[in-house]
Amino acid sequence: MSHKEAVSIVGLGQMGAALARAYINAGHRVTVWNRTHSKAAPFQGQAKVAATPEQACSESNLTIVSLLDYAASDQVFRTPAVAEAAKGRTLVQLTSGTPNDARSGAAWAADVGINYLDGCILAYPSYIGGEHTPVFYSGPRELYDRHEATLRVVGGATSHVGEPIGAAATLDCALLESFYGATLSFLHGAAICASEKFPLDAYFARFQAIMPLISVTADMCKNMLSTGDFKGTDCTLDIHAGALAHIVRLSQENNVDRRIPELIQSYFKRALQLGHGADEMAAVFNAIQDQTRG
Ligand code: NDP
Repeated sequence: MSHKEAVSIVGLGQMGAALARAYINAGHRVTVWNRTHSKAAPFQGQAKVAATPEQACSESNLTIVSLLDYAASDQVFRTPAVAEAAKGRTLVQLTSGTPNDARSGAAWAADVGINYLDGCILAYPSYIGGEHTPVFYSGPRELYDRHEATLRVVGGATSHVGEPIGAAATLDCALLESFYGATLSFLHGAAICASEKFPLDAYFARFQAIMPLISVTADMCKNMLSTGDFKGTDCTLDIHAGALAHIVRLSQENNVDRRIPELIQSYFKRALQLGHGADEMAAVFNAIQDQTRG
C-alpha cells in the first residue's frame, strides 16, 4: 500500500490538470472533480473521477483547489454538503486572489471546521512538478509542515511564507506586478525597435543583457528601503530621469504609444519634486507612497 497521502484536485483547468498529472506521476492516489465533466475524461483509469465536489473532498484528507477565482471557489465549496464532507480535513487553496480573499476563505473554513492553507504558484502549468518551481504557502505552520512532503510535489521550491493567511497572496500580487510590468515594458521596447526597423530577433536575443542590472538594482532597493537612506554613487535620479525622457521623446517621434514611459516618468518627476534628484533610483519608492497617500 502506498504511504503517500491521497489528494483530491478540484478544478481541471490548465493549472488543475497539471497538478493532477503531477500527483498521479508521483504515485499518489488522486481524485479529481471539474464542473465541465468532459475535462475529467483524460484522467479516467489514472484517478478517481468524483461526481460532486463533496465526493472529491471525502475521498482524501487533502483537497487542492485550482479554480478561476475565489468567486468560483465560493460557489463550489460554500455549500452544506461540501462543509460536511471536508470537515476535519485540509483544504489548500491554489486559486489566485487577494489577501482579503484568503482571509475570507480562512474565516469560512474555520467556521465549518476545515483546516486551511492558502498558496500561490509562480509558474506556468508546464513547470508543475519541477525542481525549481516556486510555490508559496501561508497559514498555520504546523498544518503546512504536516502536508509539506505532499505539497512539494507541485514544486521543488515550495516554502511557507508566513502564518498570516494573506501572506502568500500578498507576495503573489507583489511579484506578479513586477512580472506584468516587466512584460509590458519589454513589449514596449519591442515596439520601439519595430518603429526603428531594428530586428526584433536581435532585440530579444539581447534581452538577457538587462537582467543583471535589474537584479543589482533590486538588491540596492532592498538595502535602501530598509535604511531609508537613498544616497549612493551609482546613478542619480536626475540622470535616470534624463534617460527616461529620451524614451518618451523617441516614442513621440516614432508614433509609438507613450503611456508606459510617461507613467514611469510621472513617478520619477514626483520623486524629483520631493528633492531626490541627487539620490539613487530607489528613492522613487517615496513618490509611489506619496501618490498612494494623495
Ligand atoms: P483555466 O481557465 O484553464 O481553468 C479555470 C477552472 O475554473 C476550470 O476548471 C473551470 O471549470 C473552473 N471554473 C470557472 N468558473 C467556475 C465556476 N463558477 N464553478 C466551477 N468551476 C469554475 O485557468 P487556469 O487553470 O490557468 O487557472 C486556474 C487558477 O490557477 C487561477 O486562479 C490562476 O490565476 C491560477 N494560476 C494559473 C497559472 C497559469 O499559468 N495558468 C499560474 C499560476 C496560477 P470549467 O472547465 O467547467 O470551465
